[in-house]
Amino acid sequence: MWQCQGVSRPDAPAGAVRQGSLREWNLAVVLGRIAAADHPPSRAGLAAETGLTRATVSAVVEDLVAGRLVTEAEPTPRTGAGRPARGLVLAADGPAGLGLEVNVDYLAACVVDLAGRVRHHTVHRADLRPLTPAEALRRLVELATRARAEAAREGLTLAGAALAVPGLVDDAGLVRLAPNLGWRDVPVPALLAGHPPLTASVDGVPPLVVENEANLAALGELHAGPDGAASFLHISGEVGIGAGIVLDGSLFRGARGWSGEIGHIPLHPDGPACRCGGRGCLETYTGQEAILAAAGLAGADLPADTATTRLAELAEGGEPAVLRALHHAGSALGVAVAGVVNLLDLDTVVLGGGYAPLAAWLRPPVLTEISHRVLTAAWSPVTVRPAVLGAEAAAVGAAGSVVRRILARPAGWLTHRG
Ligand SMILES: [Zn+2]
Repeated sequence: MWQCQGVSRPDAPAGAVRQGSLREWNLAVVLGRIAAADHPPSRAGLAAETGLTRATVSAVVEDLVAGRLVTEAEPTPRTGAGRPARGLVLAADGPAGLGLEVNVDYLAACVVDLAGRVRHHTVHRADLRPLTPAEALRRLVELATRARAEAAREGLTLAGAALAVPGLVDDAGLVRLAPNLGWRDVPVPALLAGHPPLTASVDGVPPLVVENEANLAALGELHAGPDGAASFLHISGEVGIGAGIVLDGSLFRGARGWSGEIGHIPLHPDGPACRCGGRGCLETYTGQEAILAAAGLAGADLPADTATTRLAELAEGGEPAVLRALHHAGSALGVAVAGVVNLLDLDTVVLGGGYAPLAAWLRPPVLTEISHRVLTAAWSPVTVRPAVLGAEAAAVGAAGSVVRRILARPAGWLTHRG
């Protein structure tokens, strides 16, 4: 089930409406109800809920079924007389989203269907820093091609792609700066143009949307999280640290889409040099490499993909240097997080990415700092919890953003199909 707040709808048409916009609105309303329902609703139930006539609901459902957006659920046996009830559910073999991620030490691709289920997920581990952007993106295309083939095998049609990048991305998809990758002014859409998995376009929507990975990870958590927390800070702790801010169920992207750079909040203005050019940024104390160095593991024969797992194993075993390093990292993180909570009045902080498996050790010092520094903490405690999706959040969030676009405006998909 998709959270209700994730299913945005077009505004209700007012006054003299065009027939087309009324149809679009009805399609979005009915599909939104089906997507958000706890149990498969019937046509009669949808009519009662939406105020539309039974005939209108039937016609709309017929369009949605023909467009492979909705299907009849398996009938549930009914006790007593009458036919078994058949509800409506999102189709498992309709359009799907392709989610991609480029990060410092891995590439990922995943396919999410209309109901939010992850149908394919693959990760390619490699240190991407020595590669040029074009080389890294070429490897990503290989992953995308495989994902498209997997989707086709399962009867799914990719309706678009979203790519998560650990950096600042402008509206045209230009990666202005990704300090930990060493990318500056990289024209990602142009470098990926012409590759089949990334060129299918639905109703004028660009086939590929490039977005900050922390933002997409926060969106992934919004729709997968256990409590449907509508306002929270999701922190992606990798080599770099980014945050996604969700306010009232919507991602807060900032004036230009560049919000959430929590990793570059200065903790000590004269502290260690940061890749951003500043000094003493949070990242220099709590980034993955900083934690490894503090634990005495820097330069150890430790592949990047196992660093977090190794830290968790050593912490589990009570290794004093690792426990100390995680405690210091958690304290530094807590200082920065307390400032953000004071500023934005958030009641939940989610430890995501590489922080999720380390949450057992990071959470206590984070909570200590919050209790000391957040003015309202005494009477309104802040929840700090590990993310549900962990390291795959950004790719899943990216793919989910594609299918939610269809849920919000199904008419676009139906038109595209002809
Ligand atoms: Zn910095």
